[in-house]
Amino acid sequence: MTELAYLADLPSAYVRSFRARVTALPPGALVLDRTYFYPTGGGQPADHGQISLDERTQLAVVDVTKSGPTVVHRVQGPPGALRRLGIGSEIEGTLDWERRHRHMRLHTAQHLLSARIYARYGRKTRRAELAGVSATLDLDGSLGTETVPALAGDLAEAFVHPRPVQVRFVPRAEWDRNPMSERSGLVPLPRQVDPVRIVEIEATDACPCGGTHVRSTGELGKILLHDPIALGPGASRIGFTLAEPSPSSPSG
Ligand SMILES: [Zn+2]
Repeated sequence: MTELAYLADLPSAYVRSFRARVTALPPGALVLDRTYFYPTGGGQPADHGQISLDERTQLAVVDVTKSGPTVVHRVQGPPGALRRLGIGSEIEGTLDWERRHRHMRLHTAQHLLSARIYARYGRKTRRAELAGVSATLDLDGSLGTETVPALAGDLAEAFVHPRPVQVRFVPRAEWDRNPMSERSGLVPLPRQVDPVRIVEIEATDACPCGGTHVRSTGELGKILLHDPIALGPGASRIGFTLAEPSPSSPSG
């Protein structure tokens, strides 16, 4: 079992390097007792980065996936390097921070946009996908191009007047009574999930999520909203792009 250390609270999403122990060595990969590398899931791509065996030997982390209760870090490095590791070996993991922080900005911006689309037009987000500097949201129902100015205004407003983001674990019964639980059609939450990890954007949104997020909407920067397109009857897609590098320099 791998402890998903990035889940614990919002500051954990800002941890860039950590120590952990090897618990399994599948071919070309490592399983650790704990990790801050995000494994692909919920529309958020895997983290990349490095795993250092010692001062001279580094492996590149090229993919991270969840396999049941464990996280598998697929690595590439000098021939024979992996063979020097055994179960219990200590390593140092370092995240590709530029890539991860981009995913955090995209993910928080996606929650914000999903919330505003639901509040203004009653459309639920069924699926979201983050990639590179862009994200797409698949919505139930149609969404016309006339909605773009108001939604773009909402995104700009949240950047100019930053709102804090926080992570809370709340009992399932409490979450089911929260009126915000209506807005997320993203993933049907299995009954056994209790407590629920909620990502909250102050006065704007609350949504169950296992992803990594920025601590303030002030870190989102300017966002370019694309025109929505129809995906056949009863469905539409809207996308956006991060229009600039992060306006604040995030630190660990
Ligand atoms: Zn999410």
